[in-house]
Amino acid sequence: MKITIIGTGYVGLVTGVGLAELGHQVFCVDTDPDKIKTLGRGEETFYEPSLGQLLRKNLKSGRLQFTTNLAVVINQSQFIFICVGTPSLANGSADLSYLKSAAASIKRLAKGGKVVVIKSTVPVGTNKMIAKMLNQNSAKLFAVVSCPEFLREGKAVSDFFNPDRLVVGATKESVAFKVINLFTKVKTHKLITDWETAELIKYAANAFLATKISFINEIANICERTGANVSDVAKGMGLDKRINPYFLRAGIGYGGSCFPKDITSLMHIATCQGYNFRLLKSVIEVNENQRKIFVDKINKVLGGVRGKTIAVLGLAFKDNTDDVRKSAAIGLVKQLDRLGAVLNCYDPQAMANAKKELPAGVKYGRSAYDILTAASAVVIATEWSDFTTLDWLKVKRLMKQPIIFDGKNLLDPKSLASLKFKYYSVGRP
Ligand code: NAD
Repeated sequence: MKITIIGTGYVGLVTGVGLAELGHQVFCVDTDPDKIKTLGRGEETFYEPSLGQLLRKNLKSGRLQFTTNLAVVINQSQFIFICVGTPSLANGSADLSYLKSAAASIKRLAKGGKVVVIKSTVPVGTNKMIAKMLNQNSAKLFAVVSCPEFLREGKAVSDFFNPDRLVVGATKESVAFKVINLFTKVKTHKLITDWETAELIKYAANAFLATKISFINEIANICERTGANVSDVAKGMGLDKRINPYFLRAGIGYGGSCFPKDITSLMHIATCQGYNFRLLKSVIEVNENQRKIFVDKINKVLGGVRGKTIAVLGLAFKDNTDDVRKSAAIGLVKQLDRLGAVLNCYDPQAMANAKKELPAGVKYGRSAYDILTAASAVVIATEWSDFTTLDWLKVKRLMKQPIIFDGKNLLDPKSLASLKFKYYSVGRP
């Protein structure tokens, strides 16, 4: 099949490359000419394991093309995927301006009869609104399908080929099957539903995962007061199949380009319906407080951070990505900066993006060891596995004093204690 992808960011590029690998002819379109130029040369525009290889393979085969010119490719395609951003507005609702602009271009440029697939995360009612917009006062008819995306950055390629499910919302089963048939080679549960349900599945899934994180963080705070160990509590809970072990790692709270904005958007949806979503309100509050608790811990142990050098390992919102949007690590660095700490940071992939977000006084190193000289403490803020294999004796030699604050419960407390580090994590004695 021939497919146009509008928006070639984290979701659009992975989707485009994945669909090309499945054998489709894919035209990836973006309004950012630099992005398109870079991708056209076969270079990735963000860090995502194994994406580059597949990008170059499919570019070479001709199944994948990049352009800024939607008009040239749109009528060669039977399917148009919309993968543009839906960031938060000040009132917490999703900004649909990119989506509406993409839909307006489709209406203007495309002949009718095409299937428009909305992959962007959108509030309940958006697919209906876009279908109305496309088909109102027009002789051309478009079918609109909601196909929310569930990929995880850092594991996005694997998630494309092995997703837990494919959710397809449509008004007609025959149209839903057109989209499902694009993914015949992907073996997974394929759930056909209506637009509104598909839209809400995406928000409910992210809100539930965030709830798990805030829940285990609350348990971690109880552990700190009682001497229990949150890692073992989580393990014991996670062995129960009804609970499962995922998203039960205590730490400095969730961040990233999706959870914070999707949760505030769901809150906004609930409020607009006159519903007080008490549980979700608490999830947000617990998350915001969790980072503050950690900063207070650092401040207390160090007897204040003003003028003290703190080495921060990790800036991305999670491992295996360079994405720093709403990263908890970035929030932590900003809080420590406001308290007057001297900050030396390192991240294996995310430093270029972090520099655009962090205050000018923050310094960066070329390696983890590079930022440790004379540090009063090291803070782990992203769960990169690289940090687990550091030579901690060497780290200790470089530092002014051997203190670790592990905001991701990444390291083994016993082995660090045996190296005579003062080691503080979240909810572990
Ligand atoms: P992104 O910001 O990385 O990419 C969006 C791209 O769309 C940008 O490259 C932008 O230039 C382009 N764009 C905007 N308007 C355009 C237009 N009119 N025509 C062509 N291109 C246009 O965003 P993302 O992270 O890929 O997220 C996209 C959507 O997918 C969001 O709704 C997000 O919530 C959802 N989502 C994201 C993830 C994730 O992990 N990033 C996971 C699941 C769902």
